[in-house]
Amino acid sequence: MFNKILIANRGEIALRVIRAAREMGIGSVAVHSTADADAMHVRMADEAICIGPAPGTQSYLNVAAIISAAEITGAEAIHPGYGFLSENANFVQALQDHGITFIGPTAEHIRVMGDKITAKDTMKKLGVPCVPGSDGGVPDLETAYQVGDDIGYPVIIKATAGGGGKGMKLANSRDEMENAFRTARSEGKSNFGNDEVYIEKYLGRPRHIEIQVFGDGNGRAVHLGERDCSLQRRHQKVFEEAPGPAIDEATRAKIGKVCADAVATIDYAGAGTVEFLYEDGEFYFIEMNTRLQVEHPVTEAIFGVDLVREQINVAAGLGMSFEQDDLKINGHAIEVRINAEKVPEFTPCPGKITQYHAPGGLGVRMDSALYDGYSIPPYYDSLIGKLIVHAPDRPAALARLKRALGELIVDGIHTTTPLFHALLEEDAVLTGDYNIHWLEKWLEANT
Ligand code: ADP
Repeated sequence: MFNKILIANRGEIALRVIRAAREMGIGSVAVHSTADADAMHVRMADEAICIGPAPGTQSYLNVAAIISAAEITGAEAIHPGYGFLSENANFVQALQDHGITFIGPTAEHIRVMGDKITAKDTMKKLGVPCVPGSDGGVPDLETAYQVGDDIGYPVIIKATAGGGGKGMKLANSRDEMENAFRTARSEGKSNFGNDEVYIEKYLGRPRHIEIQVFGDGNGRAVHLGERDCSLQRRHQKVFEEAPGPAIDEATRAKIGKVCADAVATIDYAGAGTVEFLYEDGEFYFIEMNTRLQVEHPVTEAIFGVDLVREQINVAAGLGMSFEQDDLKINGHAIEVRINAEKVPEFTPCPGKITQYHAPGGLGVRMDSALYDGYSIPPYYDSLIGKLIVHAPDRPAALARLKRALGELIVDGIHTTTPLFHALLEEDAVLTGDYNIHWLEKWLEANT
């Protein structure tokens, strides 16, 4: 086992990893930008090193500075969290060249899954059902028109390198194709340095269902059921739950096995998420994330496992602590993302926290790096906390969520908490009867 690991991230996810390391008796090294000198992850780690100025490109994305920090402190492995360098194959390669272990899959798996066209092609060959669409990349407008005519409108044009909801454009008809095609390409180019796009059938009312998989890197893999992340704004998740209200045991076992078998075949190591759209009882693969997800705690809650501990164990060559038959679902869990944003506009709202109080009690977990007097810097993602509740069933989890949200105090800035208070009054949310477009429509009608 490692003596010391470095966490190449900030905020709540850095704390999450430090906590797992400490329970395992492993030392932790925090890295931070100059803007984060007073951040909680710096205070909580055993050691901390400044790796550059405030902008992420000069600090949390600065590969040379991070490798130097690991070498100076003697950290043997690096956990990337999510975002930043977590899905950067070149970073993983650089660590390998320096003899530092990456806590995650191989550079090759990250590369394959990071390019959505290659990912889809690979998954298709492994027997995973995909959204109908173009056969690989669509090089020009003429081909795009052909694909549109073949699969039928509406279609969605997606940048192969896209992520975070960027580089995706809807074309409702042939007339809208030219504009959507050009915009998706230019967004791909400007955001991800790659203008290659592909086309998919646009599904009108699917749910977003993702399967948590975990592999030991040696041909063994399990699944830990699904998460339903259908409540989304601008293709970004805001509310996630497990198990999914629309998924029964037989459906879970079937799609779970398809995913576990697929990642076992490629000797996948560590945590991964296979994302699907689910409509009329059919699953359609959209992408695979080769890292720990923001919403992993709902899976941890219902299965009673520590996914970060498992990631560290697998990276250290100790394998997974569970087999498929050990994994049984207990109860229901929901996570809401607390962002420093003013609703209903969702404008970022950094600033000083004058008072912070985290909810508590049975079945309540608050993953956050906030503290009284903390100043949220304006440079990073607006996620400032995740409130996760766990209860014996869905109605009890909803009641617990409402109770816990009522206890949360974040004064001094605006947060997305009022959105969740309002959503918990909605029948569709209470019954779980929604799809990926529901929240956008609700926001339009209610703001
Ligand atoms: P990203 O990598 O940017 O997160 P994804 O491919 O995972 O992009 O898609 C994100 C979200 O976009 C999905 O959860 C869904 O809401 C929407 N989406 C993606 N593909 C389709 C599709 N073919 N039809 C309808 N909605 C889609």
